[in-house]
Amino acid sequence: MRSPNGLLPTAWSPRPELVAGPPATSELRCCTSLCSGRLGLCRDGGSWSGWPFGLSTARQPRLRLGKQTGAGQARRACRTVILRCGSCCRGRRTGSVVAWSSLPQRYYGGAEVVDEIELLCQRRALEAFDLDPAQWGVNVQPYSGSPANLAVYTALLQPHDRIMGLDLPDGGHLTHGYMSDVKRISATSIFFESMPYKLNVCDEVKAHLLADMAHISGLVAAKVIPSPFKHADIVTTTTHKTLRGARSGLIFYRKGVKAVDPKTGREIPYTFEDRINFAVFPSLQGGPHNHAIAAVAVALKQACTPMFREYSLQVLKNARAMADALLERGYSLVSGGTDNHLVLVDLRPKGLDGARAERVLELVSITANKNTCPGDRSAITPGGLRLGAPALTSRQFREDDFRRVVDFIDEGVNIGLEVKTKTAKLQDFKSFLLKDSETSQRLADLRQRVEQFARGFPMPGFDEH
Ligand code: PLP
Repeated sequence: MRSPNGLLPTAWSPRPELVAGPPATSELRCCTSLCSGRLGLCRDGGSWSGWPFGLSTARQPRLRLGKQTGAGQARRACRTVILRCGSCCRGRRTGSVVAWSSLPQRYYGGAEVVDEIELLCQRRALEAFDLDPAQWGVNVQPYSGSPANLAVYTALLQPHDRIMGLDLPDGGHLTHGYMSDVKRISATSIFFESMPYKLNVCDEVKAHLLADMAHISGLVAAKVIPSPFKHADIVTTTTHKTLRGARSGLIFYRKGVKAVDPKTGREIPYTFEDRINFAVFPSLQGGPHNHAIAAVAVALKQACTPMFREYSLQVLKNARAMADALLERGYSLVSGGTDNHLVLVDLRPKGLDGARAERVLELVSITANKNTCPGDRSAITPGGLRLGAPALTSRQFREDDFRRVVDFIDEGVNIGLEVKTKTAKLQDFKSFLLKDSETSQRLADLRQRVEQFARGFPMPGFDEH
């Protein structure tokens, strides 16, 4: 289904209409046929970006800045489905001539075209999150989410200033100042003083509030979950998770009047803009990845379509169906359920851990991630398993399909539980899975059923199932 201009799909098509022509030779091809038989409950709830947008160029919102040559374009095949395969259009941007320009624009000349792309990306980023350009600015140059966060700290803090980030086991990210009891692990705890928190803090102590919406930015843009922009001074995000874009990062910062001095009546402006821009370049990064910026501009345009909203709503429904099915089967979920695209299963009450479950599932062609749960001591054998709905929703899975997926996961977990009783350490567990003939046979049988089921669904950017 096409919009009147013939470029944007107007609706999220049901399965049969999604089969389209093969991708053009200049695209980044991301999936082997083997992949279509895997179930990718991607880490971070990542998605195959662009699907169902990403089948033919005719369906894409286009950036017309920079002519591509077919020759010399990267043609890549990736082996596993956990990689987020991009839309063809986004792939064309990341593999296009724009990638060859390595100009730190606004320093060297000759960057008019990439400047235009960057300004377009900035406009679209503000539009995607309904932000008034008088009140918010955005830097679209961070190479990814981690550099974006480090740039904010570099801009606003002095070395050894305090960062209070949500602790990693409680849901925070490495770049929120992660350190263990014995070691400073992230650079954000090496260069700054990290004090992890478990609950809220902020205005009273005159801190800057940074919201890192990396996982959920697509859901925020689709307006299916609440937005952090009302509360935060600064918002960072990756662009390759639920936002379904190329791997990159964005930093939004408040602009304009911060307050009025009650004594003098003078306006006090926010001062983030110059500091953040300077921190990104030249303090932390060199030339921007212009190809990624162009690709992000495409993703941001897609994020404003009704189809993207419909897709995001389906992601939420699927995640809930998955959560309910797990609860019915007696699993414990951190937070008791889900309001977003992710489910975090606490396997500790079952007597298993995320590392063992992840390995069993990997062997039966189900990609999921081990993940810490509150109270965990080890990130190597954490208690949880993180399951995301976006990737399989991109493959047109609906609620019933997710219930089937839970059945498969449950079978895998039960195999894991049995093997755990026969083995001691994680390494023994892993070897046993491969060496014990009865177990290998059970795994092979389950894998065969999983792959048969998964092949019935289309794969983004790939027309063989
Ligand atoms: N912030 C959060 C909340 C994340 O989940 C991630 C990545 O998983 C990042 C930042 C870092 O992003 P990247 O891996 O693109 O550097």
